[in-house]
Amino acid sequence: MPCLGARVVVPLGTRIVTGIVVETKVEPRTSNGEPRTTNLKAIRQVLDATAFVPPDVVALARWTAEYYAAGVGDTIPALLPPMARGGRADAHKTTRMAAITPAGLEALAAGAVTPKQREALDLLSGTPAGAATAALAARGIAADAVSRLAKHGYISLRQDRVDRDPFDQGQMGVRRGSDPHPDPRLTPADRQLTPEQAAALARLRALAGTRAFRVALLHGVTGSGKTEVYIRLSADVRAAGRRVLMLVPEIALTPAAARLFREAFGERVAIQHSGLSDGERHDQWQRIRRGDIDIVVGTRSAVFAPLEDVGLIVVDEEHDGSYKQEESPRYNGRDVAIIRAQRAGALVVLGSATPSMETYHNAMTGRYERVVLERRVLDRPLASVSVVDMREEYAAEGPEVILSRALREAIQTRLDRKEQALVLLNRRGFATAVFCRQCAGTIDCPNCSVSLVVHGEGHARRARCHYCNYTSRVPPACPLCAGPYLEQAGFGTERVEAEVKKACPEARVERLDRDAIRKRGSLASLLSRFRDGAIDVLVGTQMIAKGHDFPRVTLVGVVSADVGLGLADFRASERTFQLLTQVAGRAGRGEQPGEAIVQTLYPDHYSIQLACRQDFPAFYERELKFRTAMRYPPVISLVNAVVRARTFAGAMDDAAGIVEKLRTADRGLRILGPAPAPLGRLRGEYRAQLLIKGMNRRKIREALQSALAASPELQRRVVVDVDPISVL
Ligand code: ADP
Ligand code: ZN
Repeated sequence: MPCLGARVVVPLGTRIVTGIVVETKVEPRTSNGEPRTTNLKAIRQVLDATAFVPPDVVALARWTAEYYAAGVGDTIPALLPPMARGGRADAHKTTRMAAITPAGLEALAAGAVTPKQREALDLLSGTPAGAATAALAARGIAADAVSRLAKHGYISLRQDRVDRDPFDQGQMGVRRGSDPHPDPRLTPADRQLTPEQAAALARLRALAGTRAFRVALLHGVTGSGKTEVYIRLSADVRAAGRRVLMLVPEIALTPAAARLFREAFGERVAIQHSGLSDGERHDQWQRIRRGDIDIVVGTRSAVFAPLEDVGLIVVDEEHDGSYKQEESPRYNGRDVAIIRAQRAGALVVLGSATPSMETYHNAMTGRYERVVLERRVLDRPLASVSVVDMREEYAAEGPEVILSRALREAIQTRLDRKEQALVLLNRRGFATAVFCRQCAGTIDCPNCSVSLVVHGEGHARRARCHYCNYTSRVPPACPLCAGPYLEQAGFGTERVEAEVKKACPEARVERLDRDAIRKRGSLASLLSRFRDGAIDVLVGTQMIAKGHDFPRVTLVGVVSADVGLGLADFRASERTFQLLTQVAGRAGRGEQPGEAIVQTLYPDHYSIQLACRQDFPAFYERELKFRTAMRYPPVISLVNAVVRARTFAGAMDDAAGIVEKLRTADRGLRILGPAPAPLGRLRGEYRAQLLIKGMNRRKIREALQSALAASPELQRRVVVDVDPISVL
């Protein structure tokens, strides 16, 4: 009997695959719970005598699958080092890698190989991600033996980049070597904590010292020095012989934390995120598993890192939407972290200047401890925020204006003073739609129910769907009525970039959004050039709001603060508040005080007003009233189910059938819908939606599962999202 967490080779349908043992001594049952004896297949081969994946991590994956109504199989990729995925050669040095294939495993299990081949396959079966052919050669397996194995299909060959240190420059937006603008604050060793930091650290230390499960919210304004607290607390936990998991939303966008941890803890820090090559990830995973690592810094999937005896889990920027995985299993890394800590008897620190409604609610009701940092380090003031009412601007300057007079002047002042500015608009592209002046039609995506977004200008102009990437040229006349008067409407970051260049021709302006960083390395180079002062104004989407610490930024401009407010999502206000507070928090982090200018059409909206005052408690109170009245999280639990079908009527009918079953089952649930989903058509499929609200997630899940039990076909077309971060 193989042990929990061991890898096994098993037949699955007509294929042979490698799997992980998630449970032993199970009674096979049919789907309606009857004992089943037929159709059980034998394990072909057990690859590990001991657990390959630690049993507690396997158990965590099972919890995740159940809670988020996903198959256990969906969670397995997050548990394993990456498997061979074919060539990914690039300009860097590459090395030839060999990996065993299912056919190879089968041949090995069947003993149908020569002794030399057996030796090679044995070696490779121990490293699912593959081994360098050079390493095989060193063990006496020559190149011609390797190519014979490949010819049989027993192994696959690929080119991998040479294993590099993921902390090395370039990848992380961190340069090594001499810094033309050394930042005096980046010498943490001899630094004095502020009294607030010291008090917060003492409190968290006491909690960690109990070696019991606790959750603390570290609620610290932007620039209050939370990272420093994480590092000192980690040092403590490590000294006590336990290990640390540090989760960050996106490492590429917040390289500082990873770098500071590396500086503080040296070689015993590992980094895990999706931007690494397979080879790098594989190496890091193995080092963690061997116990060579005390601290793992990573993005959401690092919550499943094979780290033993975890004493502290930090979730930095816990409110950030990137902790939620938008494919099955749709887990939230923050919430899985809390479960992991509960089982490990560890402390969880959730850090944020703008906590999620859920977390703050838990802090207010006493489930979590709340530790506060109310001031910035060195008593630097928060940025002063002013609001520009764009209706007045349109009246004075015409309806075409994008940058208000106040913002244009403020940018010019920064240029004169050799300071820097960030300009935020959370919408990509040049124009958001093309419409016909004759028939009022828009140019829409043929696959999705959205209009195409214009990218580029002049000859480079293209219309593109932001959901399925369909791209076409912008037609000279309306495809509906043939009218010749097509006009562009709305604007995105590309247009803002052009407007800043027009207003300040001498400024060095660049753009940071998903389009601008397609090329590998371009994100890192943009961030480091901005940091070096080679860029004066950086225009971008929410990417520029995240965690950066650029000391010479003294101005933040927000072009349309209300972009997100029009969306039919219960989190629209929360997200707007967070984005505005976070981006304003990027200004004035150095010696010069910061200023933020917020342009909006709704200057009276509470999330804009309260973000400008940076008044989180007032926002929470106000928003909680809305959530309570409308029955939304955190006062209830929510599950979003989207039914996909070939026709609109089909999607609506199927959704109605589910609603019907849920209603007759009556488990005290409230059901909204069925309704066409806000994105009614996506990649050619129609979508209908239902929202299920209740006090107990398990009941909601069970009700939904029994409503779908009779039809596996329908089940495959329903996307279930437990604790959705967005219902769009
Ligand atoms: P937060 O994550 O709370 O926004 P950071 O951790 O990025 O804040 O810290 C903001 C800046 O203050 C960083 O540049 C950091 O190096 C610096 N800093 C942190 N603690 C201190 C301290 N005690 N004294 C001086 N500078 C500090
Ligand atoms: Zn589309």
